[in-house]
Amino acid sequence: MALHLQRTARLLLLLRGSALSPRSCGKMSTGTRLRVLLDMDGVIADFEGGLLKKYRQRYPNEPYISLEERRGFWVSTQYGELREDLCDKAISIWESKNFFMDLDPLPGSVEAVKEMAKMKNTDVFICTSPIKHYAHCPYEKYAWVERHLGPDFLEKVILTRDKTVVSGDILIDDKPDILGVEPNPSWEHVLFTACHNKHLPASTTQRRLLSWADDWRGVLDGKR
Ligand SMILES: [Mg+2]
Repeated sequence: MALHLQRTARLLLLLRGSALSPRSCGKMSTGTRLRVLLDMDGVIADFEGGLLKKYRQRYPNEPYISLEERRGFWVSTQYGELREDLCDKAISIWESKNFFMDLDPLPGSVEAVKEMAKMKNTDVFICTSPIKHYAHCPYEKYAWVERHLGPDFLEKVILTRDKTVVSGDILIDDKPDILGVEPNPSWEHVLFTACHNKHLPASTTQRRLLSWADDWRGVLDGKR
């Protein structure tokens, strides 16, 4: 009987020890699989190129900002600085029907995302913020994903205005500051280079992905 109690006590200690070990913290939240969150506009879909093209079509006599001249994340802010009324004109472009649907994929993005999704121990999600003028944007984001990545990818779409509450290992996003209610998001933000952020000083702490021709596989491997 005493021997049985000793064995039971030892077993309980072992179980308690494993539950409290450091291995049960941190990365265990997402398991042994790598969870990658991919932003859509400016990472897989060419928002800036699409905006400039449609803006110039609709307002051919108005000044515009070339991609080389773009500075700052909010394109409408820069148009407003050029001339006050141009802010609303820029906004009117991405609030129009078919704006998001007609965006071209950024070079190499579709091939990279499809390859990434097939990688061993890798889960890929599209994590994108719809605009608040919701008449067309959310529908068209789903339709874009279906058209370019296939219907199976519809399972992988996360629409959210706050990416800090989504858990993952890596978030690849062209927005330099990603803020929300969670002060310590689980993901590492890898900054995807875009016309509006390429002039920002290099960061010692933030990794960058220069394009889809850059070593995105290495960026993922660095997190495994
Ligand atoms: Mg973006």
